[in-house]
Amino acid sequence: MNRIIQPGATLGVLGSGQLGRMFAIAARRMGYRVHTLSPGVDTPTGQVADAEVEADYDDLDAIRAFARGVDVITFEFENVSTAAADAAAEIVSVRPSGHALHVTQQRAREKSFLALKGFPVTPHAAVESLDELTAAVDRIGLPAILKTASFGYDGKGQHRLTSPLDVEPVWALVGHQTAILEKVVDFSLEFSVVAARGLDGGFAHYGAIENAHRHHILDVSVAPARMPEAAVTEAVAVTRAIMDELEYVGVLCVEFFLTADGRILVNEIAPRPHNSGHLTFDACITSQFEQQVRAICGLPLGATTLLRPAAMANLLGDVWAKGEPKWDAALAVPDVKLHLYGKSDPRPGRKMGHLTAMADTTAQAIQHVLAARDVLV
Ligand code: AMP
Repeated sequence: MNRIIQPGATLGVLGSGQLGRMFAIAARRMGYRVHTLSPGVDTPTGQVADAEVEADYDDLDAIRAFARGVDVITFEFENVSTAAADAAAEIVSVRPSGHALHVTQQRAREKSFLALKGFPVTPHAAVESLDELTAAVDRIGLPAILKTASFGYDGKGQHRLTSPLDVEPVWALVGHQTAILEKVVDFSLEFSVVAARGLDGGFAHYGAIENAHRHHILDVSVAPARMPEAAVTEAVAVTRAIMDELEYVGVLCVEFFLTADGRILVNEIAPRPHNSGHLTFDACITSQFEQQVRAICGLPLGATTLLRPAAMANLLGDVWAKGEPKWDAALAVPDVKLHLYGKSDPRPGRKMGHLTAMADTTAQAIQHVLAARDVLV
């Protein structure tokens, strides 16, 4: 069961976005073949994969047929149903497991798992009715954020409550489904820990990566994070314990708040490589994507050493507002690397690519990456 999946084998990816694309690039570099399944064609992953299958994630026969053509399955998109993961697992290993996916794909379930196991989380309550929301607001206090429990990402499905008068209108917006009320955290910094756990329980991490969001979407990530070493050590230990608890195999990202009074709180878990880890592609000996290949294939994990301080800036569709961005101008900035995901429709807010800059200091890396992004428009 735990045999090594050797280069030359075929890796299956459920999902077909940029995470799958960068995974496929890493896998193909190591001599693996990659198949991807999603409801789309000419997808970011499909463009660099050996085979692209167009099917719905709930088409279990299509998932089984896909599984028969690969040696292991992973996913780059966590909203794949447990039924789909289970159907695939009847045929090949699924890494990380359907169980890890199940726990982390729904906020209420994820938060109760974290709280039950004693991990530090934001004060929260799962709510299913207006009465429960009213009671939760009384208990947790304001300001608070109501988040949909499922299918939320990049701040989608989130509403802030600042006054008791907000309770009814916000419930009218969100209340047709299970939701989670969270106290607004007074944080000094947001950061993430991207880490990998191997088939043998081996562990590797990229330290703390500092994240700045705009309109709830990740904007800029910086490594190493500018925060106290003790908090980094604690966050890495929490990440490792979460992965052990889930018997996780693969790459995972834990997003944290560093509170104004110096504590760390888990915000959420992504059961896959993460946008904040994109800078590892250029700036680390082993990228998060290669690490995912190694972990799911039962290979030893690679060194995570950061070669130079680095900063990553996302390129959203907004960058195309005035026409084709000036790529040559951005690439004239020293040490800047361009990544585009092969998406043809640059809608505002859509992640189209990113830039990474490396420099002698984090401050310089940030300056270079922002300068490069600025000259694009
Ligand atoms: P999420 O989709 O939960 O990752 O939230 C997106 C962003 O919204 C986070 O990265 C934070 O910037 C902000 N946010 C989410 N939850 C909270 C909270 N409880 N307190 C303060 N800010 C939050």
